[in-house]
Amino acid sequence: MFYLGIDIGGTNIKVGLFNNYGRLIQSYKIPTPSNNIFYFLKLSFLEHEFDLEYCVGIGIGVPCPIKDNVILYAPNINLSVGINLEEEFQKLLNKKIKICFYNDANLAALGEYYKSNIKGIAYFITLGTGVGGALIVNGNIIEGVAGLTGEIGHIQIDAKKKKVCGCGGNKHIESYIGVKGTISRFNELSFTKVSDIKEIKNLLDKGSKEVLILLNEYVSYLQQLLDIINKVVNPDDFIFGGGLTDAFGDVILPLIKEKMPSINIRKASLGNEAGFYGAYYLLTKNK
Ligand SMILES: [Zn+2]
Repeated sequence: MFYLGIDIGGTNIKVGLFNNYGRLIQSYKIPTPSNNIFYFLKLSFLEHEFDLEYCVGIGIGVPCPIKDNVILYAPNINLSVGINLEEEFQKLLNKKIKICFYNDANLAALGEYYKSNIKGIAYFITLGTGVGGALIVNGNIIEGVAGLTGEIGHIQIDAKKKKVCGCGGNKHIESYIGVKGTISRFNELSFTKVSDIKEIKNLLDKGSKEVLILLNEYVSYLQQLLDIINKVVNPDDFIFGGGLTDAFGDVILPLIKEKMPSINIRKASLGNEAGFYGAYYLLTKNK
């Protein structure tokens, strides 16, 4: 028997396989296709010879607000909006497996809670293709009426340059500190042009001044966001995950600490695997 934890991101889809004892025993990733995401997931299961006959449940994180397996809107990803995704994926798999969809930041926060025992009120922030948030209070994810609690990516900030967000709004934080905004800002600052975060990370490791300018700017935007969340929620801890935290967290988080000494911040202890563990926890917690 096994469980699958899946994290659908704007750039990659990560798949993790858990055995019956909650041990992550296999994982892989595929680039996120521009359409037919479930079809390509199914193909990847076949390639990895997963026999769904023995699969007890699938937990899936998606980078958009979702409630009861129905997406409200999806600016960063091509998934069906307004229909039950569990039924859609079951039909494609031709199997009645339990499939739970959950917001990716919420899923990562659950994983972090399950493995590292978050206490009190924590605000989990994912810095990736999108900017996601999750509010977890004594182990419970607060979803809100429509699953919108924690949708911090579309908070408007004060910025000199206008930028239109994937959702159509203007000056939303995600356009400045998400992957796309970070790459385009770097290319404005530097003669060296890059197309992904890894290249910026390599330049940082080589001591690039432009990357430090970029990250200082990044921190000033992130600070605006944290200031707003802190005024509304005032959590015990801010916990950071996502690909940009992996790449730049060691620079960004100390700078934030310096500027905002009154808040507690730290990196997610599970890194990119937090969503996997969240999925496993979600599928098994009521057993
Ligand atoms: Zn937006």
